[in-house]
Amino acid sequence: EAKKEGAGKIKVFRQWMLDKLQESRTLEHDMALALVNKEFVVYYQPIVDSFSQEIYSYEALIRWIHPQKGLLSPDSFIPVAEKTGMINEMGKSVLEMACREAASWVIPTKISVNVSPVQLSSKTFATMVLSILNETGLPAERLELEVTESSLFTESNTPMNTLNRLRALGVKISLDDFGTGYSSISRLSRLAFDKIKIDKSFVHSISTQEDALNIIRLITGMAKSLNMKSVAEGVETQEQLESLQLLGCDFIQGYLFGKPQPYIDGKIRYG
Ligand code: C2E
Ligand code: MG
Ligand code: MG
Ligand code: MG
Repeated sequence: EAKKEGAGKIKVFRQWMLDKLQESRTLEHDMALALVNKEFVVYYQPIVDSFSQEIYSYEALIRWIHPQKGLLSPDSFIPVAEKTGMINEMGKSVLEMACREAASWVIPTKISVNVSPVQLSSKTFATMVLSILNETGLPAERLELEVTESSLFTESNTPMNTLNRLRALGVKISLDDFGTGYSSISRLSRLAFDKIKIDKSFVHSISTQEDALNIIRLITGMAKSLNMKSVAEGVETQEQLESLQLLGCDFIQGYLFGKPQPYIDGKIRYG
């Protein structure tokens, strides 16, 4: 009886695995088509100054308008894009759309674009960024790239060289999701980022965990000492905003000020 049950479980597991494989296979296939059919679009979310609440920049966040499944969020397809290498082409297209979009704005706010560790490990990444800036006419100073700590956990010098090269040309670099990875303080100071983005998990725990408040205080203080700005993501309430202002956080991003939207100033933007 127990054996039969075990065999049943294996069968269920096997089917589950096959389903997963099938799912990622068709996802991969769908994704390649989607790139050709221009089903990927960019949504924009404002990042505001904590005190003046003026818009400082917009973060470009990819969405997939899937013909059958509807609107898909990046967490459901970025990992597969990274595994297959398709992220290089996808990321290039996001950068093109975002820079072209930002170049057309009347008010010259900055544009922040997420970059995958896979893209940063490519030796041609910096050249690609520069040619897009050239083509779209967006000044380098208006572009910010958001990278994660895991980008720099490699033996290779390429990611660091790439960031330094872009930074020397005026592109700003933000360290995204800070606090969830393993960055050491020495690594942080060696890299000279322009901004540190405090992961939203800390922001969401502000009112329930004293630790979260202390951690945020530590990060904003560290950012100041290293001459970097701090940004809090995932700010949803007035209470969180007030705590973050008290903690000296420079910029704020979250539903309190605006959800990611496909348009800016009431105008629909097509990718
Ligand atoms: P991220 O770069 O940390 O972006 C912030 C995420 O937090 C976004 O999720 C945003 O919609 C969400 N968010 C903003 N404000 C709030 C809030 O007040 N409450 C809550 N609960 N969430 C908030 P999204 O758009 O689903 O993107 C998820 C992640 O996917 C991003 O995290 C980023 O790592 C990745 N991603 C998005 N677009 C791209 C892209 O073009 N290229 C790459 N490589 N990754 C991307
Ligand atoms: Mg980001
Ligand atoms: Mg983030
Ligand atoms: Mg995140």
